[in-house]
Amino acid sequence: MSGGRPREACGVVAVSGHPEAPQLVAEGLVALQHRGQESAGVAYRARGGPIRLERGMGLVLEVFPGLVVPGEGSFAVGHVRYSTAGTSDLANAQPLLARTHLGPVALAHNGNLVESAPVAAAPPGPDASDTALVLAAVAESRAPSLEKALESVLAQARGGFAMAALGPDRLWAVRDPRGIRPLVLGRLEGGWALASETCALDAMGARTIREIDPGEFMTIEDGAAPRSRRLFPREAAAPCIFEAVYFARPDSLVAGSTVHALRRRMGGELAAEHPVDADVVLAVPDSSVSAAEGYAAALNLPLEQGLIRNRYLGRAFLEPDPLRRDARVRRKLAVIPSAVAGRRVVLVDDSIVRGTTARHLIGRMWEAGAREVHLRIAAPPYRHPCHYGVDTSRAQRLFAGERPDPSALARELLATSLGYLSLEGLVRAMGGGSHCTACFSGQYPVPVGVMAGATLA
Ligand code: SF4
Repeated sequence: MSGGRPREACGVVAVSGHPEAPQLVAEGLVALQHRGQESAGVAYRARGGPIRLERGMGLVLEVFPGLVVPGEGSFAVGHVRYSTAGTSDLANAQPLLARTHLGPVALAHNGNLVESAPVAAAPPGPDASDTALVLAAVAESRAPSLEKALESVLAQARGGFAMAALGPDRLWAVRDPRGIRPLVLGRLEGGWALASETCALDAMGARTIREIDPGEFMTIEDGAAPRSRRLFPREAAAPCIFEAVYFARPDSLVAGSTVHALRRRMGGELAAEHPVDADVVLAVPDSSVSAAEGYAAALNLPLEQGLIRNRYLGRAFLEPDPLRRDARVRRKLAVIPSAVAGRRVVLVDDSIVRGTTARHLIGRMWEAGAREVHLRIAAPPYRHPCHYGVDTSRAQRLFAGERPDPSALARELLATSLGYLSLEGLVRAMGGGSHCTACFSGQYPVPVGVMAGATLA
């Protein structure tokens, strides 16, 4: 959790069959930096050579200055991390590399495994990530090959996960049976690419082909077309709806539309459900800008820039530190007084998780002379923890979860009024379909027990 907002759940990138695979993966990781800022890493292999691993704590450009990965190879997997299971240190920075009796394997993982995940007889330690647990189980497998070992271990996995693995002569990709966490396939000149979002494929110069299907296990060998098989019985798809609300970059494609277009539609639905007579609409930058555009357009209200995000604070301001949360939000977001003085303001945000950001911004608007401050949230109340790879699984106190009455919540935040988009409105904006909506609805598509890492603690 950062500044009262949920943190993303890691980004995965992989390339096969391209002579500059490690560099391309680094390009893809920069495009996914919004999904994790704690660590970055690239594992790569030249034809016939060993797998090499370069990783470190920090942003991609801090770990790979000039975006240079020191080495060459035609296969590579990469990862940016925000820890959702396991501690935040270099040992858990991904990809993780294991040298097993079946050969070396590097694994990059987005998501969390839940209780029924495979646990090795000799687990790697109490602080191990669920990624390390998977590798430990692969290392103990009696399967005849790495591919068979990965298949049999991952076939027991449950939760929300998308993984890319690099072996001696091929890449593998797998997505959880419900497709909760995202993974897309792209085509490169002479090769293939995988990424958590299409914006990373674009950054690598890859053409988006399709999403990896829920439950699909894909093998990509050098120069060959991908081979796929289903690892799990078919289940109803439940992709994370919060990807479109908040996580994904506006230029990424989700369910065939850009995230920007989906968020505009959410803003339009929000305007239909909670219109207000106002002078100006302001967006909480950056993830709410598209929804604010949709809200303002639907009500024919002017949209102005009234908030400034400080983009130069660096990682220090992303450290988990509840005592200093208010100070962090103050440093991060500022109000332009002339945009709000004497005006009836609508402030559009995409979520209230802890209430820190909303409380701060509304207070600043009153100080700047606003006549009214109406808070509009382009998503339903975030009431339930996520157990599929988002850090609210560790949040004991979710603001809306403790305050079911929006008018009481508005009073507490000192807002003139508060309106949330309904779950029905959100699904309408997505164009229908089935989704994971558990953090809004409490309906968990995969039964949630104890997190895989926690079972060993
Ligand atoms: S609980 Fe929410 S954040 Fe987690 S996967 Fe489901 S929709 Fe996404």
